[in-house]
Amino acid sequence: MTSHKRLLAVFGHPDDETFGAGSTLARYASEGVDITVVTATGGEAGEIAPGSNATPQTLGTVREAELRWALGVLGVRSSVLLGYRDSGMAGTEDNRHPSAFINAPVSEVLGRLVALIRKHRPQVVATMDLGGGYGHPDHIRASELTTQAFKTAGDPSYPFLSGDESWTPSKLYYHVFPRSRMVKWFNYLKENNHSSEIANLNPNTVGTPDEEISTVLEVSTYLDQRLHAAEQHRSQQSPFTMLPRELTNEALSKDFWVRAEPPWHGGEMETDLFEGI
Ligand SMILES: [Zn+2]
Repeated sequence: MTSHKRLLAVFGHPDDETFGAGSTLARYASEGVDITVVTATGGEAGEIAPGSNATPQTLGTVREAELRWALGVLGVRSSVLLGYRDSGMAGTEDNRHPSAFINAPVSEVLGRLVALIRKHRPQVVATMDLGGGYGHPDHIRASELTTQAFKTAGDPSYPFLSGDESWTPSKLYYHVFPRSRMVKWFNYLKENNHSSEIANLNPNTVGTPDEEISTVLEVSTYLDQRLHAAEQHRSQQSPFTMLPRELTNEALSKDFWVRAEPPWHGGEMETDLFEGI
């Protein structure tokens, strides 16, 4: 099947593309959509899961390889690593590293994202929630600058880094987890005395209020592919292994998105990021 649909998706770290939106990527890849995944950092500051041979010194290299394997499983053939350093969780020493993504000049990152949009000409641009899911500084920065790049790429007065022409994408989406689902997962973790700090978060502030979700993708067909992709991120604790299979299956049967541009004002929900294109 040939398709002229194009999707560009921007994430903070290797694994965000799979743990967050993996089934969406698998679905559109299988439908012949041209997908480019952009990853801002190497995830060097992440925790290392038990059983992984990675060390703090090798983690960036290991995660780069894991990202390529995971994208291969999802069927994504085009990927770009921006090469910034993981900025670490808010309030940690890693925040101050000169190569950290959050310390890169905004104009530099914006310029690179605009150039990627102009090169790949996606109708749909996707990124992480502006709140960053759980507030990771790299997620927030990736989301903010992708939003800015979405609005800038079509402006012919904005500098060109290459010979590409300006390009105005049609739609911008944020990947989210609905609050109702997260509360259910947290309750399970609490009831089972899970030691994860996640279980202690306030259920009224996690995820995205359900009524803000504009787009629900049916992706249950891609469940095994998603889990297989998640396994490639061996150095990272998969969120799917913390829940019983039944809850994991439910969690991975749908992916949830908020349409930021053009803004969604409620009403009938979408079932496809490319609806209307
Ligand atoms: Zn991340």
